Parts: sequence; structure tokens; C-alpha cells
Amino acid sequence: MADDYSPLESEIRRLIEVAGPLPVAEFMRLCLTHPQHGYYVTRGSIGAKGDFITAPEISQMFGELIGLWMVGAWRQMGMPENVRIVELGPGRATMMIDALRAAKIVKDFHAAAVLHLVEISPKLRVLQELRLEGVGVPVHWHATLTDVPEGPAIIVANEFVDALPVHQAVKQADGWHERVVVIKPDGRLAMSTAPDSLPHFDATLPQELRRHSPDGSIYEWRPDTIAFDIGKRVRSDGVALIIDYGHIRQGLGETLQAVSGHNFSDPLLAPGKSDLTAHVDFVALARNAEIMGGRTYGPISQRDFLFRLGIDRRATALKENASPEQALAIDSALSRLTATGPKGMGELFKALAIADPKIQALPGFEGVRS
Ligand code: SAH
Repeated sequence: MADDYSPLESEIRRLIEVAGPLPVAEFMRLCLTHPQHGYYVTRGSIGAKGDFITAPEISQMFGELIGLWMVGAWRQMGMPENVRIVELGPGRATMMIDALRAAKIVKDFHAAAVLHLVEISPKLRVLQELRLEGVGVPVHWHATLTDVPEGPAIIVANEFVDALPVHQAVKQADGWHERVVVIKPDGRLAMSTAPDSLPHFDATLPQELRRHSPDGSIYEWRPDTIAFDIGKRVRSDGVALIIDYGHIRQGLGETLQAVSGHNFSDPLLAPGKSDLTAHVDFVALARNAEIMGGRTYGPISQRDFLFRLGIDRRATALKENASPEQALAIDSALSRLTATGPKGMGELFKALAIADPKIQALPGFEGVRS
């Protein structure tokens, strides 16, 4: 019977049979980054033809503005002669290609830049290498941020944190229980809850949710080692820009979702065949980065951030040399990136900066503190 399942599903089922119910976070980690069968290891199909589309894949304007943001941040850092440009989860490298092209106008920045890409997918690494061939800066790859060599660093990450595993807990009469994946008697994978309640869970839970959470409520959290790592890294001579979808107020509810072929699917169906993500808790991310010594700016909405960086002026400039169809496409991309409401990315997506406290100001965050 096990032969009917994909290799990853067979392995997950064996794990559950041997070790018991699998916490949602562990399930998500296996689905995305299992060394042989994980989604990002085998597929990772981003873009119009892939499973999901991201801001840099929608328009070159996004990456170009990030490039100008990096130049502005570099100036605030005192224009170090050697700066590590670190991207977490670069996907098809589109954002970095557009960013470095736009940043070329500042020759000293381009000459100072060495690219360090943190990428788990061997397949995407190959694609990144091919596509970055002509950018004119040295490129290195790493498995984690902590592997990037010491020294001044500008870290950027778009839609990276949402792919890091989330835990879920369910409120029951006797406390919060970790949500787990089990095998039902009929053989299906299903969500359930661990029999014992989580000890000391109030310490994990935001204060306002400790008393008023009805039974059946779901709370999601990430261990957020990435926030600690970023805070630790930027606190002396660094800045980071995190863009992702998520919330700026902590609350209850499940946001874990599976996407494949631009459609939502059941996270438990076909493990490893679809992208699993969950909203980013920007409050926790900012707090954990601050604990490690980073100063945070924002989060502000992607809409505010892109307008502050001048996306409307960039769109006008691009339209000057565009055909009528291209001009329409530019307008539609501008709208998609900045529109509010459920269809647009402008409000759902947020930008958070984390920086060395010695740095006085950052582009796009003028007058904004956490
Ligand atoms: N930033 C890109 C791609 C986003 S998809 C864009 O905006 O288009 C998420 C990216 O993070 C992919 O490149 C994926 O392979 C990578 N990734 C996911 N989990 C990772 C992990 N734990 N460590 C390193 N890279 C990871």
C-alpha cells in the first residue's frame, strides 16, 4: 500500500508510525526542505509559469527600487569599500539582477559589492548562477545566514520568512496543545492535537491572548531563529530589509496555506508537491531582532514603502520609452504591487528594516520607527 504514496509521503507516514504524531512545523519543514524530496529542493517553481508569483517577478521596478534602497543604506553605513550584499532565498534571482543593474549608476557601490546568496535549493542555485553571470559582482552561496563571512552587510529578503516552518497550537479546556499531523484509521493524513498540553505556553503567547482565547482557537508561531540571526548580524555594521506578507498585530487564527499552479490546495494532500507558507508575525520578528541588538524600522505597508522610494516616478520614466501595450503592463504592475484590498499586494505585504543602531536613517523609512 505504501507504494502508492510519493517517496516523501511514505517517509512522513513511516515517521508518524515510528515516532508518533508529527508537529505541523516539522511537517512543513519536511515538505519544503527535505534534502531529496522537499518542494524547494525538487521544484521551487516561482514566476508566471510556476506555482506562485512574487513582486520581483511582476515587475522590474520592484528590484530596481530595492537596488536604490541598498545604495542609500550603503551611504548611511559610511560607504564601506567592501560590502556583503546578502539575499535570503533569492528564488530566480530576478530581484537581485534588477537591483544590481539599477545600482550600477553608483560605481563605488558596485565596486564594493560582493554577493552572498543564502539558498537551500540546489536547483535554484544552478538557475541563480546562470542568471547572475553578467552582473559583474562576485557571487557566493551559503546554506544559512550564519555562514556568510563577517563584515559590513546589507541583507534583503523577499518572501523568504513565510517559507520558514510555523508551529500551531490549539486551545482546549486544559490549555494549549500542539497541532500535529496524524494518520487516521481510514489511512488519510489529518490534523489533530497532541494529547498533553504545552507547558509554560503563556510565555510564548502575546499577553492580550492569554486570557481571551476561546476553545478551538489556533495560534501560530515561528521559533524565529532567523530574527535572532539577523539582529545579531546587523547590530554592528549591517542593515536588513524584510518584505513579506503578514500581520502587524498578533492574533489568533490559522494562515498555513498550500499553493500550487497559482491555486490554493490542502496542505496535507501531496506533501512536497506544493508550496507551503504562513503569514509572518512582524511583531515577533521585530522584537526578536531587537533583543539581539538590532534597531527596527516599521513595518510599513509595501504600498507606502514603494511610494516612498518613488515607484510612481519610476513607472512614469519607464513609460516614456514604452509602447502603448507596455505602458498598460507597467500601470497594471504598479497597481498590483501597491493596491490595497485582497487582490493587491500593497497592504498585505509589509516592509521591515533592522539596522545597526549607529545608523541614523534608512531610505523609505524616514520618520518611521518601530
Ligand atoms: N525571493 C524570491 C523567492 C521567494 S521563494 C522572490 O521573491 O521571488 C522562497 C525562496 O527561499 C526560494 O529561493 C527557496 O528555495 C528559499 N528557501 C526556502 N526555505 C529556505 C531555507 N530554509 N534556507 C534557505 N533558503 C530557503
